[in-house]
Amino acid sequence: MKKIVYALIIIGFAWSCKDADQTDGTLKVVTTTTMITDLVENIGGEYIEVKGLMGSGVDPHLYKASEGDVNKLAHAHVIFYGGLHLEGKLVEVFEKMASQNLKTIPVSDALDEKTLIGSEFFASNYDPHIWFDVNNWELITQFVVDKLSEAKPEHKAAFEKNGLEYMAKLKTLNENIKNTISTLPAEKRILVTAHDAFSYFGQAYGFEVVGLQGLSTATEAGVQDVQKLATFIIDKQVKAIFIESSVPKRTIEALQAAVQSKGFDVQIGGTLYSDALGNAGTVEGTYIGMFTYNVNTIVNALK
Ligand SMILES: [Zn+2]
Repeated sequence: MKKIVYALIIIGFAWSCKDADQTDGTLKVVTTTTMITDLVENIGGEYIEVKGLMGSGVDPHLYKASEGDVNKLAHAHVIFYGGLHLEGKLVEVFEKMASQNLKTIPVSDALDEKTLIGSEFFASNYDPHIWFDVNNWELITQFVVDKLSEAKPEHKAAFEKNGLEYMAKLKTLNENIKNTISTLPAEKRILVTAHDAFSYFGQAYGFEVVGLQGLSTATEAGVQDVQKLATFIIDKQVKAIFIESSVPKRTIEALQAAVQSKGFDVQIGGTLYSDALGNAGTVEGTYIGMFTYNVNTIVNALK
């Protein structure tokens, strides 16, 4: 009985803290990756306060919560994260928060399981890099609109208006992506990167995609993986391979060296943004800017 009373006191204290947070009327939202932060800021606008845990160049697979993060999470009204074990080292933190009735929302819940790319080797059994199909991001936009509206019904109209405007921009982005890719001959659409972040991209836009590391960056590529992929690059006469901004470039440099040692010259086609956007305040610091930059970089290097 004592335990229950103690638990209730804690819950009561937590609720009164929540009420205190609500007094200025702003919904406090915490997000994980820069892609999610950008989306939620676009929809919430002036009506919410967004704190993103991860910055530019931060790898979500390896990210661990700091004490400051836990504090931010505990004071949030809503927490949006990627889900499908994207944030592999935060899963326990989110589960704990959910069990305390904090609003933790994986944006992957916006998608029908049947549309996810499966992976028996990954903890969630699904590929978590869902943002690389703009159609997915449109569905997630509507999902975030709905979730923010539930949390703050008095601003529902504003969230819906912002959501519609953003979805229109995503439609234009999707058209631009397809137009740019249409200039690249089909046989040259082979994308080799540091880790398996681009399978949804490949499926949506007709690329064969190969990552040197698996779905997570937690396991490094072995010598055999490098040699196998080097042979593949030579067989397919792939012109360029790509570094990722959130993964150390040594893996791709080792692959380039392996290809060159077999007598074929493969270029490094540039740095792609995979699991994090570019610096805040730059064009590549937005989802739309990042996607446009990636597609231009890929097509220019492989042409
Ligand atoms: Zn990844």
